[in-house]
Amino acid sequence: MKIAVLPGDGIGPEIIAQARLVLDALGESFEIEEAPVGGAGYEAYGHPLPPQTLELAKAADAILFGSVGDFKYDTLARELRPEQAILGLRKHLALFANLRPAICYPELTAASSLKPEIVSGLDILIVRELNGDVYFGSPKGIRTASDGLFPGSREGFDTMRYSEPEVRRIGQVAFTAARKRGKKVCSVDKSNVLETSQLWREVMTDLGKSYPDVELTHMYVDNAAMQLVKAPKAFDVVVTGNLFGDILSDEAAMLTGSIGMLPSASLDIKNKGLYEPSHGSAPDIAGKGIANPLATILSAAMMLRYSLGKEEQATRIERAVQRVLADGLRTVDIYTVGTIKVGTVEMGQAVLKALA
Ligand code: NAD
Repeated sequence: MKIAVLPGDGIGPEIIAQARLVLDALGESFEIEEAPVGGAGYEAYGHPLPPQTLELAKAADAILFGSVGDFKYDTLARELRPEQAILGLRKHLALFANLRPAICYPELTAASSLKPEIVSGLDILIVRELNGDVYFGSPKGIRTASDGLFPGSREGFDTMRYSEPEVRRIGQVAFTAARKRGKKVCSVDKSNVLETSQLWREVMTDLGKSYPDVELTHMYVDNAAMQLVKAPKAFDVVVTGNLFGDILSDEAAMLTGSIGMLPSASLDIKNKGLYEPSHGSAPDIAGKGIANPLATILSAAMMLRYSLGKEEQATRIERAVQRVLADGLRTVDIYTVGTIKVGTVEMGQAVLKALA
């Protein structure tokens, strides 16, 4: 099995190095190849997603991605900015399903801004559609308005659209995931206002009939945003469109208190995927050796589970992470008084030891 490893920028190379050591320690015969992406791709080949990096990603069974971006690239033309690499990979690899677990380890409840009893033991999965919605719907642009409240003034416009097959395939991902978890799917939309959401709800309801063992509920997005902070443990799998998912997945991530702990996966129709931590390249701490590598190590675990069919190895890694947390080891982002502050490498080494 071939894994493309794309470390990227900022803390990317530091955290990826630790995840690679964990993968190496599993004793599997993975073929692992690295290539530059983001700002590193731009520096090496003049493009955030160089052709050779894209080819490697296409040829691989799975991609482990660090993070991209640095404020020093802010003045570059939009198509040359590091973040374009992620959009390019999603598009070229047809990655349409974004899976973001939000897990609150009992040892880390103090890091959440919510009361411990509300978040302790939280384990929800946000499934976000990635290829459609208002982000990609055409037409879009900026023009002179010919009608509306201020004809003759400049206006920006985007188009929200979803086809039935698009809703169905993301729904299938959510229902399949729910079957392996708490057997509950909450579909989030805004069907009281949006036509797109009406179709979304119709298709999800119909699809739900094929999964009688999974409980399907529907919720308006504004209510979902409230319920996520009021009673997040009531959710199991949340499935939603690109725009709502963008916002709700960040909200869910924050429930846990540490972005440095959260993995993510973006899958194609055949479960080939790109796996990356939910956080960015953290340029403010890059090179200091203090970044939390656990989100990346947990992303590697997701990769083993969803794309490489190695459930047992995935669980091994997740247990090792739980063990180091139980032992009181903390990087700076999750540190609290009474625990042991460690750097990126020490945290990686501790996971390796726990694995053994
Ligand atoms: P960020 O996630 O990089 O950082 C936000 C805060 O969280 C910072 O204080 C950072 O130090 C901290 N943090 C993040 N990851 C951490 C870790 N593993 N350990 C400890 N602390 C951590 O978000 P930002 O500052 O808004 O963005 C920085 C750059 O990252 C920008 O260029 C942005 O475009 C890019 N970005 C990339 C991705 C990606 O690669 N998928 C995602 C989001 C942002």
